[in-house]
Amino acid sequence: MTHRILIVEDEPSIAELIAINLTHAGYEVERAMQTEVALSLMKDSLPSLLILDWMLPGKSGVQFAKELKANERTRGLPILMLTAKSEEMDKVSGLDSGADDYVTKPFSPKELVARVRALLRRQTPIEHTGPLTLGPIKMDPSAHRVFAVWPDHDPKPISLGPTEYRLLQYFMANPERVHSRENLLDKVWGNEVYIEERTVDVHIKRLRAALVPVDCDRYIETVRGSGYRITKTPTET
Ligand code: CA
Repeated sequence: MTHRILIVEDEPSIAELIAINLTHAGYEVERAMQTEVALSLMKDSLPSLLILDWMLPGKSGVQFAKELKANERTRGLPILMLTAKSEEMDKVSGLDSGADDYVTKPFSPKELVARVRALLRRQTPIEHTGPLTLGPIKMDPSAHRVFAVWPDHDPKPISLGPTEYRLLQYFMANPERVHSRENLLDKVWGNEVYIEERTVDVHIKRLRAALVPVDCDRYIETVRGSGYRITKTPTET
């Protein structure tokens, strides 16, 4: 299957550079200069991935990412954010907006393609596992679905972004063990691109936020100085 990638970037030369390199790497490419155009291109079918510029005329990329992540239909769509701002804080708020990864301008086309590839790979389950259960959380990797099943309640679907899904899958397949950030980056992100360890914290935060409505966030524990673990017997706080 050929992946379709939608580039939302108002700077024609940058959009062109990305399009050429992605096409060369075997991807199908669509382009939009504004978010409204991007939305209309996503109406009939969603792309495999969105490359989104931070600064756009009209609605900003950050705002657009937030809206897409708040929408049930587009929540799982991986977003690679392009940012001209290199300050640490900006990177984190880019991720906070819902982006799954970011690249700072100026970037090397080779790195961008590597990150696209890594992000698409993260879309596929870590490895084939059967259904996983941890307390009330049930995951069916073959259907790519997660539910919270509390006694005397109907199962409630848990909607997760691609990275959060992989993270939860890895935790559930390896419960009751402390995983360092470095280990999580290796197992969940893959080590083909350089990603800062703080990125893990951002996605843990996002995973917990997705688990709050079904009262399951406390199953993901922070182990101070070591990392994170999922446990059937959380310490109530
Ligand atoms: Ca721009």
